[in-house]
Amino acid sequence: MKAFVLHGNWLPRPGYAPDERERVTRKAAIASQVWHAPRLIMEGHTDPSPKADEVIVRVKTCGVCGSDVHCVRPDSAGYVRFSGPARLPVILGHEFSGEVVAKGDAVTTLNVGDAVVAEGMLWCGLCEPCRRGTPNQCVNLEMVGFSSPGAFAEFIPVRDRYCWSLEPLLASGRVSREEAFALGALLEPAGCAYNGLFVGHQRFRPGVRVGVFGVGPIGLATVALARAAGASKVVAIDPVIERGALARRMGAHVSLSLDELIRSGESPVEALRDLSNGGFDIHVEAAGAADETIALMERTLAPNGRIVYLGRTGATSALQLDTLVSGASELAGSRGHAGHGIYPNLIRMTAAGVIDLSVMVTQTFRFPEVEQALEAAGDRRQGKVMVTQP
Ligand SMILES: [Zn+2]
Ligand SMILES: [Zn+2]
Repeated sequence: MKAFVLHGNWLPRPGYAPDERERVTRKAAIASQVWHAPRLIMEGHTDPSPKADEVIVRVKTCGVCGSDVHCVRPDSAGYVRFSGPARLPVILGHEFSGEVVAKGDAVTTLNVGDAVVAEGMLWCGLCEPCRRGTPNQCVNLEMVGFSSPGAFAEFIPVRDRYCWSLEPLLASGRVSREEAFALGALLEPAGCAYNGLFVGHQRFRPGVRVGVFGVGPIGLATVALARAAGASKVVAIDPVIERGALARRMGAHVSLSLDELIRSGESPVEALRDLSNGGFDIHVEAAGAADETIALMERTLAPNGRIVYLGRTGATSALQLDTLVSGASELAGSRGHAGHGIYPNLIRMTAAGVIDLSVMVTQTFRFPEVEQALEAAGDRRQGKVMVTQP
């Protein structure tokens, strides 16, 4: 089969000493500290065959993630910009759906021909966070397309425990099989949004006011989910006009650009307080620009509010913290999309027509045009860029 493999050199940055576990496993905990001179190469690989608990999925759709672009396009020092774990070489791509074409002897819940989507966070199920019920914090986590073979390939082997059937979506009669695969591939970024908005806290209630900073795919999914869950005000904040327009199509009441506010002499703090009638109950950071966003979020947070940090960069931020004390508010990180009923709930919401994630797709390429798709996805005016296979 054809597969797009990310190669790089193990060259820890000056001042960064990989620990023993990293050296032994060759899995960098923070890829951007270690992997140098990345290059993406199309290779011919043997078709995979299933282990007992695996299915082989013929990939139908694989979305291009900002993290994929961050892996392929190095920073000025030549290092990958992705800050999650990675073991190279690896087949890139983690936002996928497809059709089961073979299964191992121990697989009982899936059949050949089934349309499936799979979690990309490969939790172990045995470590303490997993057994506590928080698989996204698994200490033995592997990530599809970064430390485990990904889906910019014709086939991918997946353990049955990570798969979710798309049959409920097909049974709704609402979408074609091809559309179901496209929607399935969007569940990974949408799952990250769902996890941040709803999992692990009690702050999201119908009627809340939600600010979404950064409306790339995860921010766009946040907008759609907040609206579907009964937010009374959803404000999208992004410097890119095209993305603001997409956010409005996905349910944002208002979109605005901080740069434009400042240029027109308006104070961002005042504008956001006015729009939210006193402050936001939930702010979501999906921009990866904490140095520019977090302080503003803190100043426009309502009492008992929550800042959800989804951005995946090394940015730091100065906080007053007083607001958090006085308002009994909180700042919380969130990672991943596994467990907590996230995938099946998203599938049901999509099947019921409560959310339509397909609105965010702005361009679709045919495999093997992966290089072109990555190039397109690097343009910040895009929503989600997809790669499909017949
Ligand atoms: Zn992703
Ligand atoms: Zn675990």
